[in-house]
Amino acid sequence: MKCNVAVMNMHDYLDGDLSREEIIQLQQHLRDCPSCHTRYEALERTDALAKCQPIEKAPEYLSDRVMKSLPSPRRPAAWTTWVRRHPAMSAAALFIVVMLSSFVSMWNQSQEFSVSGQDLEHVVIQGKKVIVPEGQKVNGDLTVVNGDVQVLGDLEGNLTVIDGNLSPLASTAHIAGQIKTIDRAVDWVWYKVSSYFGTLAYGS
Ligand SMILES: [Zn+2]
Repeated sequence: MKCNVAVMNMHDYLDGDLSREEIIQLQQHLRDCPSCHTRYEALERTDALAKCQPIEKAPEYLSDRVMKSLPSPRRPAAWTTWVRRHPAMSAAALFIVVMLSSFVSMWNQSQEFSVSGQDLEHVVIQGKKVIVPEGQKVNGDLTVVNGDVQVLGDLEGNLTVIDGNLSPLASTAHIAGQIKTIDRAVDWVWYKVSSYFGTLAYGS
């Protein structure tokens, strides 16, 4: 029996419109199909509720109690009231949440290994390890994300290692620019923000 047929038969069964044979088939399906079984149980509960529904016929004190125990649909949730009373604050809070989530997604994206720089030809990349070989000269900056870096030769620019490992510099190593190691999400955010504003200011 297919699930859609089973669901149709559930309704018929609860209405008492099912033949003995169909009941057996339905019971068989409910045993084998957990999703239909759950659905049937929910349906059975709704059906039982519907059948004892006529509250108008119940004594007045009872329906009164039922009405009082129901949550009032008019009362808004606490946070809705707060938002209505503090519109500016809410806008600021929302802004912060959106900013944070975009930073977090940026951070997650940055978890992959990557190497960037102007002169990657003279860099050796082995798996997630980036090596500036001895006697080799790399022109420009080198930025490595989520990888290991070993400098044995010359780097004629800045070295930035984000969420990675920088091996101790060899005696043959020479780095002309600054060395920056960034290990945490917060630093990464600052790096992104400052490089963004740096790009705006210097146009490069
Ligand atoms: Zn089913």
